[in-house]
Amino acid sequence: MEEYTDEIKDLWDSHWITNMGVKHEKLQALLEEYLHVKHVDLVCNGHHALENAMEALDLPKGSEVITTPFTFASTVHAIVRRGLKPVFCDIKPDDYTMDPACIESLITTKTSAILPVHVYGNMCDVDAITDIAERHGLKLIFDASHAFGVEYKGRGIMTYGDVSTVSFHATKVFDTVEGGAVCYAQDGLTDLLNDIKNFGIRGPEEVVYPGGNAKLNEFSAAMGICNLRHINELISKRKLLAQHYDELLADVPGLKLNSAQEGVKSNYAYYPVLCEDRDWLYGKLKDNGVDARKYFFPLASDYECYRNDYDSAATPTAQDVSRRVITLPLFPDMSLTDVERVCSIIRT
Ligand SMILES: *Cc1c(COP(=O)(O)O)cnc(C)c1O
Repeated sequence: MEEYTDEIKDLWDSHWITNMGVKHEKLQALLEEYLHVKHVDLVCNGHHALENAMEALDLPKGSEVITTPFTFASTVHAIVRRGLKPVFCDIKPDDYTMDPACIESLITTKTSAILPVHVYGNMCDVDAITDIAERHGLKLIFDASHAFGVEYKGRGIMTYGDVSTVSFHATKVFDTVEGGAVCYAQDGLTDLLNDIKNFGIRGPEEVVYPGGNAKLNEFSAAMGICNLRHINELISKRKLLAQHYDELLADVPGLKLNSAQEGVKSNYAYYPVLCEDRDWLYGKLKDNGVDARKYFFPLASDYECYRNDYDSAATPTAQDVSRRVITLPLFPDMSLTDVERVCSIIRT
């Protein structure tokens, strides 16, 4: 609290509290450096990062976007709200990300983009998916909301795709209370992304584009500046907790843990386990005061608003994982003793 109070003091002097002020510009530069990405466009949340990215890449209205049903509501809603049609691709049973082997059979003349999601801090098969997108001339947008700070062979995960989007919601590994960003390398996108997030206003008398409002305010940016100072320590704490879970749960029959990916520096955003009777375990944890989550359940293709248009049996691995997954409590301030308590409930 003291650090934050200190960080926002000058806002009272300047009275400049939103519209790309000093905190916004500073956080943007700090994130470009931390994430090893050429451009970071800060926005008000991760959802608008997705919508703005699709708008900037000019995906034709009515075209199809191949995505995963094993994601947070935002990913699929963003596609639909842009006037595009989600086409659901199955996931891999090992890391729960989009299965590249299932993508090509879903490509039609109407496909304009692929929108895979890095799940739990696990990385998609970025090389295989990039190759498919390039061969078919499709735009590639990674929803990297779970993947802040993840690196693959020393390369920042936000550098993949035409753009990668990220959420800085209060529940994510790095947060600005609410916030998000579009990360990209193409210099040509900068002005358009700015127009999209600020009404297309370029000057007091100059409006060049019918943009919306998705600006990140100075108080959120200041929170980001503070949190970024501690991010490595926060991720290290998550790692210790995840490793403790790994040790204590390794020999529990019928439980499948998340496995480490070769060459990937994870951020330990979530601790998912697959179990035989998920709802039973969920209830048992709840009865013992442990708030685990069925994340992601239901699949997006089973939401009330989409279920008439899709059959989740078409993505059997996603369906199976969604029915069996539970994410256990994991946050930097959690104690190792709390991890032990959760594990002893699971083991008995
Ligand atoms: C959190 C999240 C979003 C949306 O981000 P908000 O900042 O909450 O708008 C989108 N996709 C995924 C995978 C997320 O986890």
